[in-house]
Amino acid sequence: MADSVTALDPRPGLSALPADELIAWLAERDEPAYRARQLEQAVWAGTATRAADLTTLPRPLAAEIEEAFRWSTVEDEAIVSSDGGQTEKVLHRLSDGLTIESVLMHYPARAGRKARHTLCISSQGGCAVGCPFCATGELGFERDLETAEILDQVRSASARLESGARLTNVVFMGMGEPLLNLDRVLEAVAALNDPAKLGLGARHITVSTSGVVPGIRRLTALGPQFTLAISLHAARNALRDVLVPLNRRWPVEEVIAAARDHARTTGRRISYEMTMIGGVNDTDQDADAVANLLRGDLAHVNLIPMNPVAHTPWQASSMPVIERFAARIEAAGIPVTIRRNRGVEIGAACGQLAAERAGAPPIPAVALRRRRLEAASAKALRGERSDEAVPAGVVG
Ligand code: SAH
Ligand code: SF4
Repeated sequence: MADSVTALDPRPGLSALPADELIAWLAERDEPAYRARQLEQAVWAGTATRAADLTTLPRPLAAEIEEAFRWSTVEDEAIVSSDGGQTEKVLHRLSDGLTIESVLMHYPARAGRKARHTLCISSQGGCAVGCPFCATGELGFERDLETAEILDQVRSASARLESGARLTNVVFMGMGEPLLNLDRVLEAVAALNDPAKLGLGARHITVSTSGVVPGIRRLTALGPQFTLAISLHAARNALRDVLVPLNRRWPVEEVIAAARDHARTTGRRISYEMTMIGGVNDTDQDADAVANLLRGDLAHVNLIPMNPVAHTPWQASSMPVIERFAARIEAAGIPVTIRRNRGVEIGAACGQLAAERAGAPPIPAVALRRRRLEAASAKALRGERSDEAVPAGVVG
C-alpha cells in the first residue's frame, strides 16, 4: 500500500491540535489568543489550503505556523467516482508514504427526507484482524492513524461538497479496526462533535468493530459517544473463527454480552453487520443462530452482500437468499435492513479498500489462500472450531 515509506512528518496536524496548546504556542510569540480561534475556523471552513492563504494573519506568523504545524496531514492523491457520481473514493497519501482511503456517498433527497452525505473513514493503515473477505485484512497491519490523519479525511470530504452542503454522517467503516486505535478515535470523535469544528452530533457518527471486547466495555463506561456497530458475520463460533479471526480471542458470546451491556447502559440500539457470503454464512441454520443470539435485544441487523474480493473463493449471497435470511430474523422480532453495496466497481465497499495498490500477490499464493479458506470454512460448517492462532497484533 505504500510505494516508499519514509519517516512521518513530526509537525503536528492543526486539525487535532488542542486549543490550549495552540493558545500557549501563540502566547510564546506574543500573539493574542483569538488567533487560535481564527485558525481553527479557517482549518475547518475548508477554503484555505495553507496558513499563508489567510489574509487576516500577519505574514511572519503564517510562515511560523507553516514551519511548526501541518495544515493537512493527508494529501488527496486520486479520486475515483462511481454510481453516476454518487460514490467517490479518495486515496489519501500520508506523510510517510502510506496510503489510506475514504469513501463519500451521496444520497439524494427523497420524499420527506433531506439529502444525505455519508463519509466512510479509515482509522488504521491496514488491519491486524485479517478477516478473509476484506481487502484491508489481506494487507496486514501497517500502523495506527494519528488523530489528525483521521480528521483530515473528514476535512477533505467536507471541502469537496457543493457549497452549502454539509456532511450528515461519518462512519468508521474504512480501513482498520477503530477499537484497536481507540484513544485517537475518541479524540477524533470529540473534534467531530465540537460545534467549533465539524459540529456533527453523536447520533450521526457510527463506529464499527469486529468485536474488541475490552474496547466495547471502555466505551460503555464512557456513555454514549456514537452508534456502535458490531461486525457479526456469523453467530456460530466455528464459522466466526474463520470469518473474523479475532473471534478466537473474544468469542461471539463475550462480544454479545459486552454489546448487550452497552445497549442497556446507553439506551442506544446496536447495529449488527453481516457481510453475506454465498453458501458460507447465509443458511437457514445461520439465520436462526443470529435470531437466537439477538432475540429480545436492543438491536438492528444490516445485511450487506459481500463485495467481490479477488483473493477469496467466495461470492456474494444471492438476493433471494438474503431476503429469506432477513425474513427468518425478522420473524424473531429483530429489525433487519438489506443494504445495497456502494461503489462495487471501484472497490469502494467500506472496509475493503486499497489492496490493489499493494500489488497483487503472486498467483500460487492466491491459489493456496483460496484452498486454505475453502478448507477452513468447510471445517467450520461441520461445526469444528479453528485451531489457528489469534492474529498477531490483536491484544487487549
Ligand atoms: N474493522 C471494523 C471496521 C472497518 S470494516 C469492522 O470490521 O467492523 C467495516 C465493514 O465492512 C465491516 O462490517 C466489514 O465486515 C465490511 N466489509 C469488509 N469487507 C467487505 C466486503 N468484501 N464486502 C462487504 N463488506 C465488507
Ligand atoms: Fe479489519 Fe474490519 Fe477488515 Fe476485519 S473487516 S480485516 S476487522 S477492517
